[in-house]
Amino acid sequence: MPEMLKEILKNLVSKPATVNYPFVKPEPLPATRGALSWDMDRCDQCQDCERVCPSMAIKVLPEEKRVEYQPFKCLFCFLCIDNCMQQAISNSTTLTAPGYEKRVEVFEIKKQ
Ligand code: SF4
Ligand code: SF4
Repeated sequence: MPEMLKEILKNLVSKPATVNYPFVKPEPLPATRGALSWDMDRCDQCQDCERVCPSMAIKVLPEEKRVEYQPFKCLFCFLCIDNCMQQAISNSTTLTAPGYEKRVEVFEIKKQ
């Protein structure tokens, strides 16, 4: 009992371990697996990312010079990032925003 009382008093005077979300948004941890993006200046359309993706979230269309990515299919396993020889895929610490529709994100090589 005295041990428990000590713990209760300690918790009463110490700062809370959690933040008052959504009024206070915690900083994402550096290792947070957030949204992916393609640098199309680096992408050579080899399709390796499409081949390794276990959830078929990536479609590389070399003839149309673009990549289609479906964030709601993505498992954030990062196999695509690890296997891209051109280091054209990167992630941020921003989590993919929720949505009502299964949107497709398109990344295109700029036409010259
Ligand atoms: S693996 Fe990299 S270079 Fe190849 S298509 Fe995917 S993003 Fe482009
Ligand atoms: S992180 Fe994994 S699931 Fe998501 S697109 Fe890349 S390979 Fe596919």
